[in-house]
Amino acid sequence: CGIVGYVGTEPAGQIVYNGLENLDYRGYDSAGIALVERELTVAKQAGEVSELSVPNTPNATCGIGHTRWSTHGPPTDANAHPHTSQQGTVAVVHNGIIENHESLKGQLLKEGYAFASDTDTEVIPHLIERELDDGHDLLSAVERVVDLLEGSYAIAAVRAGSNRIVATRHESPLVIGHGDDAAFLASDVTAFLDHTRDVTYLEDGDVALLEPDSVAVYRNGEPVDHDIETVDWDAD
Ligand code: GLU
Repeated sequence: CGIVGYVGTEPAGQIVYNGLENLDYRGYDSAGIALVERELTVAKQAGEVSELSVPNTPNATCGIGHTRWSTHGPPTDANAHPHTSQQGTVAVVHNGIIENHESLKGQLLKEGYAFASDTDTEVIPHLIERELDDGHDLLSAVERVVDLLEGSYAIAAVRAGSNRIVATRHESPLVIGHGDDAAFLASDVTAFLDHTRDVTYLEDGDVALLEPDSVAVYRNGEPVDHDIETVDWDAD
């Protein structure tokens, strides 16, 4: 349903939480946040954004958040996003549906991965962690995993100890906001309009690397140039 991300120099928890509040007008059944320090801290549950307590991680300057509208698996705490990988080093939020999740899950189960939810989404963090374990960085891990996915998705992924977000989309909206020493991510620009109006709309197949002082977008492994547009309307 709704995706929010922030990477910068300010504490991320409250910024991501406020972004989720701004997406509150859309229907959803669960909400959650993952904050990045040396380890990931995740808070997620069925229910409203207002019931979510933001983890106290003042040193986390990177985070992602999600409001879920269930398609696969009932609205439970376990099925709320972000979903984490087996070793807890990767967290992912996802809008849309992974159509081939059953065959991917079957493969991962054979390889010994344990699942903690009933969602189609959970294959993604496990697949990313498998690529990281093979020596890929987060950007190329996501690029490789995208090749395995069928369906519609907007995805944001973070890694423990890494002050960056990698995001990608296929048939589901995703927009980047450019701040001062900060980058924002959202499925809907209203999430971060309090912070910036300079935006880049991602296109299908784009994989974006967001860091505090730079945003880079790739397609098929090659850098792509997108215009920065200015949002000139008001959310209310
Ligand atoms: N298919 C995913 C799920 O059921 C994501 C749903 C959404 O877009 O919120 O968890």
